[in-house]
Amino acid sequence: MLSVEEALQKILAEVNVLETETVPIMESLGQVLAEDIISDINVPPLDNSAMDGFAVRSDDTRGASEKTPNILKVIDTVLAGGMSRKEVAPGTAIRIMTGAPIPTGADSVVQFEDTDDQKPKDIPAKQRANEVAVFSETRPDQNIRLAGEDISRGKIVLRKDTVIRPAEMGMMAAMGHSRVKVIRRPVVAVLSTGNELVEVDKPLPEGKIHDSNAYSVAGLVKRYGCIPKMLGIARDDEKELVKKLQQAQDTDMVLTTGGVSMGDYDMVKDILARDGEMVFWKVRVKPGKPLAFGKIKGRDKNGKAKSIPHLGLPGNATSCMVSFEIFVRPALLKMMGKKNLVKPSVEAIIENTVKNDAGRRIYDRAIVRKRNGHYYARLTGPQGSGILTSMSLANGLVVIPEEKDKVNEGDIVQTLMLDWNEEVNI
Ligand code: AMP
Ligand code: MG
Repeated sequence: MLSVEEALQKILAEVNVLETETVPIMESLGQVLAEDIISDINVPPLDNSAMDGFAVRSDDTRGASEKTPNILKVIDTVLAGGMSRKEVAPGTAIRIMTGAPIPTGADSVVQFEDTDDQKPKDIPAKQRANEVAVFSETRPDQNIRLAGEDISRGKIVLRKDTVIRPAEMGMMAAMGHSRVKVIRRPVVAVLSTGNELVEVDKPLPEGKIHDSNAYSVAGLVKRYGCIPKMLGIARDDEKELVKKLQQAQDTDMVLTTGGVSMGDYDMVKDILARDGEMVFWKVRVKPGKPLAFGKIKGRDKNGKAKSIPHLGLPGNATSCMVSFEIFVRPALLKMMGKKNLVKPSVEAIIENTVKNDAGRRIYDRAIVRKRNGHYYARLTGPQGSGILTSMSLANGLVVIPEEKDKVNEGDIVQTLMLDWNEEVNI
């Protein structure tokens, strides 16, 4: 049976980075840049004020203090978005708001707090005294944001392969770059298999269960920035399975759940082997041993034949989610052009003793908390592979190595972080 690493290697070897597309920047979150972005403007475009106050010549503030203020004549007001046509000549000042361009002649800004200007905001500028007492000296460039200090014209501002986060969306907007070339998002077919399954909005006849995998798996697909194509439920019937799988022909990856274990009606892996190409079945991992991986025939949007990676995830509610995190997530990230495929992890002190008698790598669900500078991981109750609550309560997966037959309470274990605290109900 393959180790986790061997299985993952085989999967990654069969998936490729997808083509590029050009999208509005609003839709690009989490996608990978397929081009260098060079700015053709400076941001900010002009030297501007970092404070509300008065644009002055620093020479005019020499020796100024609260006791011996320097009095300057106020000749204009300039707001953000405006331009003053006046020049700050010696002995004068221009009232200026944050973000407004620095008028000619001024070399610094003295903030309101360092002047006698205490007029309420609602008095129109022309009713204000046309003099201001300055209480402190300024240095040249003080409180001035220089043109291009954030983004400078002609430079590569964002490099190809950068993952677009909210800050990058803002950067592109600042540069006036409304559309961007990125690696497109994988479309992932999601198909649940099993005679026992009933849609979420249908009543449950005796002996049936709701199809929960469709939702947890689609949730993971979306979380990692991909587009689920929901194919519904296929009964454990060869014809029906083949028919449903045909609807996945134009997708980039197929995920089925169930039908990969040893049962009489577990036929997903058989169909994969018969109609497609089986790369492996079974991994030394718990939960998730019966994982099947292969390729099925599909067509791209031009009708050209292609092969589509098919992961036959185990049916158990927790197994399919853990298998997704370990095996599907890196594959999808690779397809999206991401370079860092490794799940973030911490070293945590485990608060339970875990036996490992199966010689498989165990990924147990845990709640990870930081106390006194250390991470602690506590298992989230019963760890049966069908117990989805164990996943719902968890923010991490503790890794029990396959070569260890036991990990004791107090040992240090590698813990993959599923979520950090901001998204966990602790
Ligand atoms: P299987 O591998 O098909 O034998 O499924 C293993 C277990 O997972 C069985 O108890 C199934 O009822 C359960 N299971 C399979 N598919 C789903 C699903 N879509 N939602 C919830 N449970 C499922
Ligand atoms: Mg089944």
